[in-house]
Amino acid sequence: MSVRKRIAIIPGDGIGKEVIPEAVKAVAASGADVETSQFDWGADRYLVDGVTVPPDGFVMLERDFDAILVGAFGDPRVASNIHAKDILLGMRFKMDLYANVRPVRLLDAALCPLKGIEPKHIDFVVIRENTEGVYTDAGGVFKQGTPDEIAVQEDINTRKGVERVIRFAFEYAERHPKLDGSPRKRVLMCDKSNAMTHAGGLWQRVFKEVGAEYPQIKTEHMYVDALCMQMVRDPRQFDIVVTNNMFGDIITDLAAALQGGLGMAASGNIHPGKTSMFEPVHGSAPPIAGKNVANPFGAILTAAMMLGHLGLTEEAKKIDAAVLEAVQQKRTTQDIGGALGTREAGDWVADKVGRG
Ligand code: ATP
Repeated sequence: MSVRKRIAIIPGDGIGKEVIPEAVKAVAASGADVETSQFDWGADRYLVDGVTVPPDGFVMLERDFDAILVGAFGDPRVASNIHAKDILLGMRFKMDLYANVRPVRLLDAALCPLKGIEPKHIDFVVIRENTEGVYTDAGGVFKQGTPDEIAVQEDINTRKGVERVIRFAFEYAERHPKLDGSPRKRVLMCDKSNAMTHAGGLWQRVFKEVGAEYPQIKTEHMYVDALCMQMVRDPRQFDIVVTNNMFGDIITDLAAALQGGLGMAASGNIHPGKTSMFEPVHGSAPPIAGKNVANPFGAILTAAMMLGHLGLTEEAKKIDAAVLEAVQQKRTTQDIGGALGTREAGDWVADKVGRG
């Protein structure tokens, strides 16, 4: 008997408030045994009472929920972006969600800007370190505003942090076959160790050591600049890519373009055994917010990924299949060639999930 899963829903700002309800609709239509609770964390709330994360907010999320589904944060009215930092980076850092998993899948050849690439060619996963690197905000500014200004942004790489995300990548490869059912056999580590020798050296050594524990999986390496070129030249070659926080951030925007743009990309922020958080790769996209034009599929695929993580595999598959069919039948928003609005595309998918 399945135990009902508790899911915290935090739509956030901008298009997050439009796409997350569509993801929730798909989850409901799948019949998944879940109970959802909504939270108003985001710019609107911050502008009213100055609260970004309520006291003990992260403790509450960990204690009371099995997973968190998040939209996006960022609002032009909050120039400092303090609420986004507190909420999103807070969740990643304070809840120690150290592996950001970003699957890159092409659902239809028409969505890929590259010539001759078909869906069977693109099915790889980027695993981005999520709690260290340059995002810890370590460093400082000296003599600010003067011609002698010095800005230092430290790149933090700990043995523990590097080892656990690399190990996660190998474990992920073992447990998550490709969409066609074939096993994942290669893990590629991406760095810039030719220029960043200290941090790169640590990543290189740890990758070699951990890789040796998984003899059935081939290890590969690329510098991040070469990887960007290869991703455009021939994305067929990738399987699992593991990299640091900043390179992961950058290469997954590039990877999103291969699958139809930011509106199609899903992600999970995971710490095995702990309450994990799932969010579409896109941000709050202020220019298109409130217009019913945002593509909800990234968020809907993110919800499917969350259900899969919670062990609700059949329900996740139903949602994935419905999105695939929507794309194939062009029941989509305009960014990927359809004529539907956010709600209408979400309705089509939910309806399909319900009947499937
Ligand atoms: P962040 O800094 O939070 O990552 P960003 O400003 O870099 O955000 P987004 O807010 O994700 O980037 O969006 C950039 C642009 O991409 C948007 O203005 C929009 O044109 C497009 N875009 C992003 N998400 C979607 C979506 N779901 N549907 C359609 N277009 C989108």
